[in-house]
Amino acid sequence: MKYISTRGQAPALNFEEVLLAGLASDGGLYVPEELPAFSQEEIASWAGLSYADLAFKVISPFVNDCIADADLKVMIDETYAGFNHTAVAPLKELGTNEWVLELFHGPTLAFKDFALQLLGRLMDHVLVKRNEHLVIMGATSGDTGSAAIEGCRHSKHVDIFILHPHNRVSEVQRKQMTTVLADNVHNIALEGNFDDCQEMVKASFADQSFLKGMKLGAVNSINWARIMSQIVYYFSASLAVGGPHRPVAFSVPTGNFGDIFAGYLAKKMGLPISQLVVATNHNDILHRVISGNDMSKQSLVHTLSPSMDIMVSSNFERMLFDVYDKHGASIDDLMKRFKTESVQLDPAKWEKVRELFDSYAVDDEATCQTIADVHAETGYLLDPHTAIGVKAARECIRDKAVPMITLATAHPVKFPDAVLKAGLESPALPEHMADLFDREERMTVLDNDIAGVQAFIADNVTP
Ligand SMILES: *Cc1c(COP(=O)(O)O)cnc(C)c1O
Repeated sequence: MKYISTRGQAPALNFEEVLLAGLASDGGLYVPEELPAFSQEEIASWAGLSYADLAFKVISPFVNDCIADADLKVMIDETYAGFNHTAVAPLKELGTNEWVLELFHGPTLAFKDFALQLLGRLMDHVLVKRNEHLVIMGATSGDTGSAAIEGCRHSKHVDIFILHPHNRVSEVQRKQMTTVLADNVHNIALEGNFDDCQEMVKASFADQSFLKGMKLGAVNSINWARIMSQIVYYFSASLAVGGPHRPVAFSVPTGNFGDIFAGYLAKKMGLPISQLVVATNHNDILHRVISGNDMSKQSLVHTLSPSMDIMVSSNFERMLFDVYDKHGASIDDLMKRFKTESVQLDPAKWEKVRELFDSYAVDDEATCQTIADVHAETGYLLDPHTAIGVKAARECIRDKAVPMITLATAHPVKFPDAVLKAGLESPALPEHMADLFDREERMTVLDNDIAGVQAFIADNVTP
């Protein structure tokens, strides 16, 4: 399978190259030239497969000319064997046709584990084969960092540098990153916000000269392998509630548009999905684009759902590329203008976007109210990101006869502030990390200055 850039200029790559590349050289993101498509009969025949076996079915068409099936199978099996629930991604019923898909049973308690625990193995496998070393640089609003570090900590072929906004991630999130003391793991606390971190990573990919010949790899959701891994649980959730014989709807708490984009791809690959809801917090640019064709940046606000405190959603570009009939020049023009000004989508393309997605923005107050309401109704404790998804699902639902599944993107223990504000008690840490607060931490606080950050990285890579 070939992968092409959303800006139309960079060379096409194969899976292995895309896995190591990150951003395309023309500033775009890589997408498959064509998607695999599955028939209803084929999808139906997967009912009863284990999560890992299902993952192999969905993922292998994207990978199969680069990695042998047997090797891929082992990596997938090991990845999901590391989750703390036999179903891997269990569904919980909140009410009639109202479900949450628990994606927080991985080692770092957020859905990022689904992709990043596999990504670490895929990268290591390919680097061993090529006898290469990779410097990973990633920005995190909290959950990506810990999952990526967990995925890479054992790789001898990777140095990983994770930038997080200093004092802007929750304590559990920070500790999950900074208590990994492996020599190849480096945590940078940047004096800035998440968009500053992300911008610095993007600029470093565009000009890698500071690495003096070493190569930079990406763990953010610009890395195609992350999106690919997330397609799987849309299939598993549908199969669990009677799909593909009946349609299902999904509500997805959204930041960088990666997770919801995976749902959009699942639909294009043949899964009957009747509705996709984009749920945002106060940082609602995606909601404003989808509902009113207003793609304008506003200043970033820190909310109780920090993993969604993002203004520039990189994966939105992947969806637009599709909607603009894969016309790279149009996307290049749009995204370049968006850097400095407010933009609108072409009216006909915007109509398409509106047909594909519903959207809703939820502020902190409504987030806490939803946590409290759902707990009172059902006894179930939502994390703030998931609460935004549930609230958006309830507001946007079109057909009450269709199961509406909200992606539960994190365990509530990661975000005790919101749970306490909702008037509830924070749950205890799961057993495998009960001693998290006693572990030693290591991180470096740096100014919001790219030269300083790049010098730190150059000084700390394995020679
Ligand atoms: C990363 C994250 C999100 C947003 O996911 P995107 O793929 O960036 O849209 C939502 N909730 C939690 C808990 C996250 O960690």
